[in-house]
Amino acid sequence: RRLGVALCGLGSLSEHQIAPALQKTRHCRLAGLVSGTPASVAKFQAKYGVPDRSVYGYDDMQRMADNPDIDIVYVVTPNALHAEHTIRAARAGKHVFCEKPLEISVERCQSMIDACRYAGRLLGTGYRCQYDPHHLECIRLVRERVFGAPVILQAGFAIDVGRPDQWRLQHALAGGGALMDVGIYALKATRYLTGEEPVVVSALETKTDPVKFAEVDESMAWTMRFPGGAIAHCSTSYRIDGIRNLRVDAERGWFELDPAYFYDGNHGRRSDGIEIRHPAIDLFAAELDDFAQCILEQRPSKVSGEEGLRDVRILQAIYESARTGRAVEIGG
Ligand code: NAD
Repeated sequence: RRLGVALCGLGSLSEHQIAPALQKTRHCRLAGLVSGTPASVAKFQAKYGVPDRSVYGYDDMQRMADNPDIDIVYVVTPNALHAEHTIRAARAGKHVFCEKPLEISVERCQSMIDACRYAGRLLGTGYRCQYDPHHLECIRLVRERVFGAPVILQAGFAIDVGRPDQWRLQHALAGGGALMDVGIYALKATRYLTGEEPVVVSALETKTDPVKFAEVDESMAWTMRFPGGAIAHCSTSYRIDGIRNLRVDAERGWFELDPAYFYDGNHGRRSDGIEIRHPAIDLFAAELDDFAQCILEQRPSKVSGEEGLRDVRILQAIYESARTGRAVEIGG
């Protein structure tokens, strides 16, 4: 059977990516809405035919406990609301798939993991790139040592964040700036490519617009050492639509993706001249179908809540290094 998914937060990502993706999934269907904005609810109901009985506000999600049509709540609200909404969904007995970053602190991530575990429900993190065939091919190249062991990794993702009056620039809702929002893709890629946890990080931050970026980071660069001997250089910014790459230089050659983190159109090349290019797939449909299958088959998700927490722990170490000017060891 198809699992019913309730979208919690009907903003840009839900409207333009996730709701359309749900129409393409094999194991899911859009079955509920959680929102504080009646106009958004009306728009989604008109387009997708969600019945009134499956529409909720953020404050009355506990009523979902009585709704067998909803199996999964997909949390797509600002970063610092993820814990609150996830915990409410878990208490209503629902599985939770939560957008990245999982939350803005390790403690809050842990509270989400605990709530889902206590409820006996699965928690997943919206790491769509781990379903992109280009990234899966890069992981294979490293695992099979096609070019030998990785030596230097480079990864960066920068976007022009746009207008100043948005939650992404408010610390209380975003928890951080470019690093939390898009730098996380570069960090995550270095972890799944090496298959290792970084042990130490050294970071620098720069700010050219202290008014717009009064509360969050604007541009960051950081370097991490991995236990197998690889080093990763990463960077992120909210100032430019520019860097969006991933590159591994290994013992006997290199490969790279550029662009690496788009919804579609990613592609890359290898030092032996072979292109890395796969037909586009809907990454949101792929991540949701995998999560539904994990639930149906009672197996763990490769994008588990624990995975989300590990990245947030490293993000905090990166911020600490930038703040103190010292290399920071990453505990675990
Ligand atoms: P958005 O601003 O377009 O939507 C956020 C939604 O949350 C809106 O519907 C808004 O009404 C609602 N909301 C509830 N309480 C709010 C409050 N107190 N303040 C502001 N908004 C509130 O944002 P988005 O781009 O859809 O991002 C939502 C989440 O999805 C974020 O965690 C973001 O990191 C993540 N995201 C992931 C991807 C991806 O590729 N996986 C892409 C974009 C965004």
